[in-house]
Amino acid sequence: MGGLLDQKFEHGGVVVTKVEDLINWARLSSLWPMGFGLACCAIEMMATFASGYDLDRIGVFPRPSPRQSDVMIVSGTVTFKMADRVRRLYEQMSEPRYVISMGSCSNCGGPYWEHGYHVVKGVDRIIPVDVYVPGCPPRPEALIEGIMKLQDKIRKETLRGPKAIEKLLEEEALKEK
Ligand code: SF4
Repeated sequence: MGGLLDQKFEHGGVVVTKVEDLINWARLSSLWPMGFGLACCAIEMMATFASGYDLDRIGVFPRPSPRQSDVMIVSGTVTFKMADRVRRLYEQMSEPRYVISMGSCSNCGGPYWEHGYHVVKGVDRIIPVDVYVPGCPPRPEALIEGIMKLQDKIRKETLRGPKAIEKLLEEEALKEK
């Protein structure tokens, strides 16, 4: 569990750590993805949320509302008709918020990349993406790896560092598009 649990339990079991590490540890250990799907990739996402993969063990539990979620898993084809809704749902999520792009369609337009007049060629054109999971569709194991990569990223976050500012700038730039 990175910084926090790397500390040795010395001095009678007292752990000394930074507030930042503690907050990051709490965040990465209780990620709440919003449960919504856009196309066939969503079937694999639902399988990942099912009991066989037991995501609770890594602190991940899907929520039915963007207001209660801090992770958006974009699983499927983002059509131009859905793009506004995806963006609106993202803006309704509490901060700090993260995005996992699951599958080729969401990463770059997938099979619709060349001739899909109706498909956004990558969800990162409308919202900032933290982790890309490749595949058509990615298997649950691949999505779990993506979630764990996001946890690694959160572990290294600073509360008021360049990364936080970078993310705000990225969101502002996308709003102007
Ligand atoms: Fe379907 Fe493949 Fe697109 Fe996923 S990446 S939504 S499996 S076509």
